[in-house]
Amino acid sequence: IETKLPKVGTTIFTVMSQLAAGHGAVNLGQGFPDFSVPGRLVDELDRAMREGHNQYPPMTGVPSLRNAIATKTERLYGHRPDTDAEITVTSGATEAIFNAIHAVVRAGDEVIVLDPAYDCYEPAIDLAGARAVHVPLDPATFAPDWQKVKDAISPRTRMLMINSPHNPSGAMLSAADMETVAGLLRDTGIFLLSDEVYEHIVFDGARHESALRYPELRERTFVISSFGKTYHCTGWKIGYCIAPPALSAEFRKVHQYNVFCTFAPAQHAFAAMLDAEPEHYEQLGAFYQAKRDRFREQLLGTKLRPLPVPGGYFQLADYSAVSDLGDFEFCRWLTIEKGVTAIPLSPFYETPPSDQRLVRLCFAKNDATMDAAIERLQKL
Ligand code: PMP
Ligand code: GLN
Repeated sequence: IETKLPKVGTTIFTVMSQLAAGHGAVNLGQGFPDFSVPGRLVDELDRAMREGHNQYPPMTGVPSLRNAIATKTERLYGHRPDTDAEITVTSGATEAIFNAIHAVVRAGDEVIVLDPAYDCYEPAIDLAGARAVHVPLDPATFAPDWQKVKDAISPRTRMLMINSPHNPSGAMLSAADMETVAGLLRDTGIFLLSDEVYEHIVFDGARHESALRYPELRERTFVISSFGKTYHCTGWKIGYCIAPPALSAEFRKVHQYNVFCTFAPAQHAFAAMLDAEPEHYEQLGAFYQAKRDRFREQLLGTKLRPLPVPGGYFQLADYSAVSDLGDFEFCRWLTIEKGVTAIPLSPFYETPPSDQRLVRLCFAKNDATMDAAIERLQKL
């Protein structure tokens, strides 16, 4: 058949997880925690099912969850989105990203993507009949060069996509970045998609610069997040989108015919958790910072060179002292011969920098998992 997605194969996360399983490798590739979800969350899920929340919930999400999201947003970012008109609960951030793109991006439009970028962005753009315009982040710091973004804007530009904390690098956008974005988009018809799934995983006292903090940006932005990262349950696939009423209305047209609604019991469980234990998301940064620091310290005893990690749960490491292989070949070798699985960076780029020797390691793991990986990495 004539394929609609000629550039797409199986995602690198699936490829590497399968390779890890096939070779009994310690899997620091695909991003998921290997520890339990909070016990209270499981109790709340159980309770929701027993109390009968097992049929179609409202298309936009259960009211108690939308309300809890509004409360959390107001506490953290000083702006309370409208529970009815501005918040939509989705099947993970992935669904929300797909919906937001399809809600506003038309055939022939352009969408600016900052490379390296998470892998689900471009296929959704392609399926909308639009074109991704790739602008590279700084190869050393993964900071955006806003002049390059400005130069990439054309009359066809319909959307800019940003992601902070950033997957795969962990880089974070600053307040100055957000002000610059507001200036760039002022008096244009360009929408912003702000992927904030790692919003609570920020380190060293830094502040997450949600687009929701910026009134000018709020008017044109789809802010997307996911409970998978916050509650250690990437398999539950519940996320949400916050956007102004007119954008949410278009977003919901796609959502209602994509999935219509999403898993009801988990929505009730997250609503209860958000209200009862705000400490969980408030302390998530400290929780992961301890893991980051422990892992970095261990990596210093290997030939891998760790890069700074301002946020998120991924550690980039330079392997040029170990091998001259390209990153995909290096990751295959590392899995098969050395028993540790990482993610190569090249699949996150349209044009990967040819001299880059970086891999991504996930530290959302128990100490025992990290120790087992380090023991193997020390032998490189
Ligand atoms: N965006 C980014 C940057 C991510 O890292 C992920 C998950 N790996 C997602 C979106 C998708 O989130 P979800 O699993 O909730 O669909
Ligand atoms: N977001 C996860 C990561 O970056 C993977 C999710 C997936 O496998 N699609 O590793």
